[in-house]
Amino acid sequence: MRTDRTFTMLKPDSVEKGHIGAILEKINASGFRIVALKLTHMTTQDAQAFYAVHSERPFYGELVEYMTRGPIVAAILEKENAVEDFRTLIGATNPADAAEGTIRKLYAASIGENAVHGSDSDENAAIEGAFHFAGREMF
Ligand code: UDP
Ligand code: MG
Repeated sequence: MRTDRTFTMLKPDSVEKGHIGAILEKINASGFRIVALKLTHMTTQDAQAFYAVHSERPFYGELVEYMTRGPIVAAILEKENAVEDFRTLIGATNPADAAEGTIRKLYAASIGENAVHGSDSDENAAIEGAFHFAGREMF
């Protein structure tokens, strides 16, 4: 397994608000190389499966509604220490707790609508990247 890649989604609120360019610019400026990228619309089944780990949580239904209400940008990013460094770049799940200058501090509206996803481990980065991309779409 590669340990230098992570997976991200610019969530529907980021796309709706026209923040794709600004967020990708920040990702590039922070030293991440984009190795896969696409605009895609998750089905309810996709979102339920992607977030299956949260299926017992009270926010699961809302999360699935939110993640399927419009297109997202899915991407695989490469950088040394990618998973940890990307979690630092996006900031805390709740933007109210996110550090200054982080993507969630800048662009997230709430703990639910929090602009971006970032994988939480190398193992999940590989699983989530493979969920969205075929091998021929990764460069
Ligand atoms: N979420 C939510 N309410 C919560 C916690 C999480 O709506 O109390 C949503 C939010 O969009 C979050 C996603 O569920 O990004 C996954 O939650 P997780 O705890 O994995 O946060 P993350 O890893 O995205 O920071
Ligand atoms: Mg998570």
